[in-house]
Amino acid sequence: MPDISFNNTGIAFAHKSKRDLSKARLLFKSFRYSSLLKHGPLLAKIVIALGLKSLIKQSIFNQFCGGETIEECNTTIQFLAKSRVGTILDYSVEGEEEEVVFIATAEEIQRTIRLASGNSNIPFCVFKLTGIMPFETLVFMSQCIVRGSIASIESLEDSILHSKTMDDSDSAIFTAHQKNWALGLDRFNRICSMAYSNDVRLFVDAEESYIQTAIDLLAENAMAQYNHSKAIIYNTVQLYRHDRLEYLRQQILSTQHFLGFKLVRGAYMEKERERAISMDYASPIHKNKEATDRDYNAAVKLCMEQLNRVSICIGTHNDESNLLGVQLMENKHISAGDERVYFSQLLGMSDHISFNLSNSGYSVGKYVPYGPVSGVIPYLTRRAQENSGMSGQMGRELQLIEQELMRRKG
Ligand SMILES: Cc1cc2nc3c(=O)[nH]c(=O)nc-3n(C[C@H](O)[C@H](O)[C@H](O)COP(=O)(O)OP(=O)(O)OC[C@H]3O[C@@H](n4cnc5c(N)ncnc54)[C@H](O)[C@@H]3O)c2cc1C
Repeated sequence: MPDISFNNTGIAFAHKSKRDLSKARLLFKSFRYSSLLKHGPLLAKIVIALGLKSLIKQSIFNQFCGGETIEECNTTIQFLAKSRVGTILDYSVEGEEEEVVFIATAEEIQRTIRLASGNSNIPFCVFKLTGIMPFETLVFMSQCIVRGSIASIESLEDSILHSKTMDDSDSAIFTAHQKNWALGLDRFNRICSMAYSNDVRLFVDAEESYIQTAIDLLAENAMAQYNHSKAIIYNTVQLYRHDRLEYLRQQILSTQHFLGFKLVRGAYMEKERERAISMDYASPIHKNKEATDRDYNAAVKLCMEQLNRVSICIGTHNDESNLLGVQLMENKHISAGDERVYFSQLLGMSDHISFNLSNSGYSVGKYVPYGPVSGVIPYLTRRAQENSGMSGQMGRELQLIEQELMRRKG
């Protein structure tokens, strides 16, 4: 076993006062009430409409988000930096599908890149494609790629010619998507080019499998374009998909340039399974958690074998996978602070992993979501749901908080 333990709650919660911990304990306990969880988003809307936004801000928002604006995140950035934990600013407004919102989101992402430039407290920036172009366009483009009518971004023009053979209504839909795609692609290119010219590493988040094909195409192109001398653009690989370990292998085998991968298990399991059943196709998700864990750990090993060309971010709250990362680094005599291997967790979760890793010299980044309270409700709802079972994540967070409160009592 590696010479590190995640059990030291003193290190994990050094930055939290007793009051902070008691508040967190209350919050995690409240996730136990299923009706609160079910009606949470509606309640939140009512609370905001009544002008009582501060109720949300003082509770769940403060646990999981850095602030409403980049400036408000500054306190979080500084306190994480004190423990040598980097901040990954994640503009987390979701569910808006208008062109003006896509433009504003792209500008916000570019602001995070400007702030990260030359700033060692912000080791990465991150964004989601669905933040800068319509979901349905990504679905459509992914289908075109799967059907083989688009093999690369360049061949998009050919597929427009191909659209002439469609009937009028198909052709109108295609033209609308093509326009959205062109606008989104332009924003994507500007974000990646800015990251490159500012020497800021950039994660492209992974999303649903039926839009991921288009996201992969974009991320792969950007890696080929910008990862000349090191990994600047990182694609995200979801190992709950049974085809992703092979995808990772193929990416490594079929390219010459530097590669960056954020490895995650995947966040859309229920949605993926439900869609597969309702549309009658084979689910892309592993049949059980063991298979996901096996592929996740195999992906960590695979990338660790290729560090001369591959950089990784181990994005997980799973103790074993983080320990595996540490163990492999030790075995290969890779120094703890080697920038090619990052560990990452979400703000407000798994501090026992993040702070114990950083305390032992490993490179750690916390995702710090931010945005207007009303815009981040979907994100907060997911965190609440994820922490709702007494077993799993919530049981663990609560147990660690209680352990630390007891320790402080002496
Ligand atoms: C820094 C960071 C970045 C992230 N970025 C992304 C991203 O870009 N895209 C994304 O989709 N997610 C992302 N996530 C979320 C991630 O995919 C997981 O949902 C979350 O981290 C929980 O998985 P775990 O490895 O932390 O923990 P664990 O508790 O060990 O694993 C839980 C995960 O295992 C999988 N799983 C659970 N039950 C089963 C089952 N019965 N069969 C098969 N698989 C199962 C699911 O993926 C579930 O989320 C990110 C997480 C972190 C920490």
